[in-house]
Amino acid sequence: MGRDHKEMDKSPMMTEEGREELYLYSLKKMAHGNTSDGYEELTKLFGIKPFFFKGNELLRENPDQRYAVIQMNIYRFKTVNEFCGRAEGDKLLMFIADCFRRYESEQCIAAHFRADIFALCMQYEDEKDIIDVIDNIYQDIVGYQLPCRILPAFGVCLSEPGMDISLMCDYASLAIDNIKGKVFSYYSFYENKMRDVMLYEKKIENEVGDAIKNGYIKVFVQPKVDMRTRKIIGGEALVRWIHPVDGMIYPDVFIPVFEKSGYIVDVDCYVWEQVFQKLQSWQNQGIDIVPISVNVSRLHVYQSNFTDFMLELAEKYTVSPEMVPLEVTESALVDNTEALYQNISYLQNQHFKFSMDDFGSGYSSLNMLKDEHVDEIKMDKVFIDDMDSEKSQIVVRNMINMIEELGINLIAEGVETQRQADFLIENGCYRAQGYYYYKPMPIDEFGKLL
Ligand code: C2E
Ligand code: CA
Ligand code: CA
Repeated sequence: MGRDHKEMDKSPMMTEEGREELYLYSLKKMAHGNTSDGYEELTKLFGIKPFFFKGNELLRENPDQRYAVIQMNIYRFKTVNEFCGRAEGDKLLMFIADCFRRYESEQCIAAHFRADIFALCMQYEDEKDIIDVIDNIYQDIVGYQLPCRILPAFGVCLSEPGMDISLMCDYASLAIDNIKGKVFSYYSFYENKMRDVMLYEKKIENEVGDAIKNGYIKVFVQPKVDMRTRKIIGGEALVRWIHPVDGMIYPDVFIPVFEKSGYIVDVDCYVWEQVFQKLQSWQNQGIDIVPISVNVSRLHVYQSNFTDFMLELAEKYTVSPEMVPLEVTESALVDNTEALYQNISYLQNQHFKFSMDDFGSGYSSLNMLKDEHVDEIKMDKVFIDDMDSEKSQIVVRNMINMIEELGINLIAEGVETQRQADFLIENGCYRAQGYYYYKPMPIDEFGKLL
């Protein structure tokens, strides 16, 4: 609960360009919400324009006071309308409006921008004042009786000298974005790094199209080995972005951004096609190829059109589907696991292999093993990291036995030392992928190794 202090791993520039971009962002959002000229029709609170006007007045006239903008929206408000009907949705909005209206005073303005977006601009002494207000509104809203759950999220921006209220609203809504998907927090205070992250995300989103076109997106492959013989038994395709200015960008940085914007579909398709293409060309050169697995983002694994694309690739490049296993991670955030396994088993019927990625790291469940046909399990690096603890050894030993008994191939991820390798071999896990053997390398280099 409460403020989130997670460090963002990337915090670049706040250039002129960045400032301009943020300004455009705020204009765009304003235009979007600019439907009400005065009071919001339904709730009779101030609409966005008078809120900005009054808010700026308040800030200007009381330069010695501190103000905060609290902005709130309801997580997936659309489903309230869909589930309970528009009339119920409207009633809820009126109720929320009353929760905000309570705080109206000479030093506090309440507003309803549009749909489920509400705001307060309030004078405060202490951050605790703000949190109290949020807590009160939060409790009232979650207590509202409806058949579907209502989850409000609050973003806060504290005023700084010279700050405009519309900018404070932008920052407050960035703070809200920062909460999304975190089950136990419902408010967040704006920090500068959120703006940097947003700008960085926009930058990489803007550049991805050109990056693909200009060949800056590269496919690397990390070999998988049999630890007993050190022979290469396969590989995993891992995407890299070689940025002409920023250098190598790792997927941990850009994949979450692409998942939000949907670009991941293009990137994945590009990677898959490269893999098929290379396998075909090696095949034609008479090289004994090994399977190169590809990652399938959870974004399309739950949709059926990716299956056709996979089949087309296998046909176009005349590469056996067995040569391109699909690494999939089950996600706790998506409940549509049925669609996931339907797509997978459809492809398995067409001879693709299914590899369960990051097994044991939290999402992939044991339960799934008894219901689904899994060809390979990739034991997550967390197990291997902990291998010095006795308890961890018990877990790993038994996991290896269980997976063997189920007749599923097992591979350990992230093996970095001889000790780890020895322990795994002693206990019957022979396959590994890790820096101890090979780091990811450009796909052509992998081809040469073969
Ligand atoms: P993953 O699928 O679990 O991939 C394994 C990651 O572990 C890779 O990081 C690899 O470089 C790293 N790794 C392998 N051995 C070791 C080791 O011994 N020590 C350490 N510390 N790390 C090791 P990478 O390439 O940065 O990829 C991160 C994640 O990004 C991947 O995790 C995968 O979820 C995602 N990803 C990578 N390429 C793609 C892609 O083409 N499409 C999609 N959808 N996701 C991708
Ligand atoms: Ca993987
Ligand atoms: Ca993994």
